Amino acid sequence: MFLGAFKFRDIISFYLLISYLRKKRAGNENLQNEYAVFARLFMQKLNMFSMYQDKPPKGMTKEEFETYKKYKQESKIMTTSDSLRNRLEIMLSEFARLNPMIIADRQRLHDVGQKRILFFRQQGICPECTKPLTFKTASAHHVIPHSAGGRTDDLDHAQLVHDKCHKIIEERLKKQSKIKMLHKKATVRCT
Ligand SMILES: [Zn+2]
Repeated sequence: MFLGAFKFRDIISFYLLISYLRKKRAGNENLQNEYAVFARLFMQKLNMFSMYQDKPPKGMTKEEFETYKKYKQESKIMTTSDSLRNRLEIMLSEFARLNPMIIADRQRLHDVGQKRILFFRQQGICPECTKPLTFKTASAHHVIPHSAGGRTDDLDHAQLVHDKCHKIIEERLKKQSKIKMLHKKATVRCT
């Protein structure tokens, strides 16, 4: 289990976070799951660099770096209530950033749930252009298109991308399938 990666001071922070979320988001059936993913992600980012680094490590934005560094600094002051409160605030803002609240739209709930999983998995980054995504406007793209037998509910073959990147991908796929078609025709003629 990833609990081994926690330091005692982090356990206190995570305890405060889950207590807070349980109160504030009571009734969210997926909370336990979201929390577990978040905790793993948070620790992963936290362990990407040491306190004495002044530049973000590879794969981390400057803003993220500032946030996690501040958390580390606050962690050095272990027991004051100010320090604990500051850490909780950092965690909550990260939780909000990485796991946007869903609109209470029953029909779309399923889709949004899947979208969140993808958003988490990609850490909010578009794989096409490697720039950050906005949860609301990001659209899901199926790596194996429907037409080629890709299943809509298959999360393994889905990605969240920008709308404009989605169009770029579709154009590329269209071109590729055209080339394939031409190739097929050519081979048929030859035989
Ligand atoms: Zn993009």
